[in-house]
Amino acid sequence: MQSRTGGHPAPRTHLILATRNAGKITELRAILEAAGLDVELVGADAYPDIPDVKETGVTFAENALLKAHALAQATGHPAVADDSGLCVDVLGGAPGIFSARWSGTHGDDRANLSLLLAQLADISDDHRAAHFRCAAALALPDGTQRVVEGTLEGTLRHTPSGTGGFGYDPVLQPLGDTRTCAELTPAEKNAISHRGKAFRALVPVVRELLG
Ligand code: IMP
Repeated sequence: MQSRTGGHPAPRTHLILATRNAGKITELRAILEAAGLDVELVGADAYPDIPDVKETGVTFAENALLKAHALAQATGHPAVADDSGLCVDVLGGAPGIFSARWSGTHGDDRANLSLLLAQLADISDDHRAAHFRCAAALALPDGTQRVVEGTLEGTLRHTPSGTGGFGYDPVLQPLGDTRTCAELTPAEKNAISHRGKAFRALVPVVRELLG
């Protein structure tokens, strides 16, 4: 059959994911492929000169959109960005967008976790509800934007357990499970996680805008 490009296969749509985390790229690529979407997902590493974006938003969605728009503008390609964190009911949703720097040092997972556990030391099991939340945004170079979200509900343990995952995984026990997120396999975590849910919610959006 003759293609629209005169016998040559149509070039696959390039979609850039705003991360240098290989695990996130593999996860979203597998979801897009399983959905039969013919897009080529590449990480932001492919564009080493693009400047870092300041996360000045006050919601996960705002920060995801800021990062997706900046990448789409800088590369001229559609871009996806995600932003996520832990929201604790009794702390009014904190650490929320401050999850990565709750202890003051950006990315110090151990210090962030210790501070959170100390803050909640006197809080009983009945009041330790929390969830991970992830916003995933798709932006096109012409300014078109969409944002979707996913959550993983659970309760917070008093002490960390498990060696897998990262961040607050050793203290969040998903509802309906007896293990923490750090005791799940990566596949088990992806199947129920806030990011897995947000990435899967992107499928119809990618199909609508890029399909
Ligand atoms: P990011 O937006 O994916 O970089 O996540 C920001 C911060 O939220 C991380 O540094 C972690 O502290 C926390 N976080 C987000 N997702 C998870 C998760 O799946 N497990 C544990 N911590 C997470």
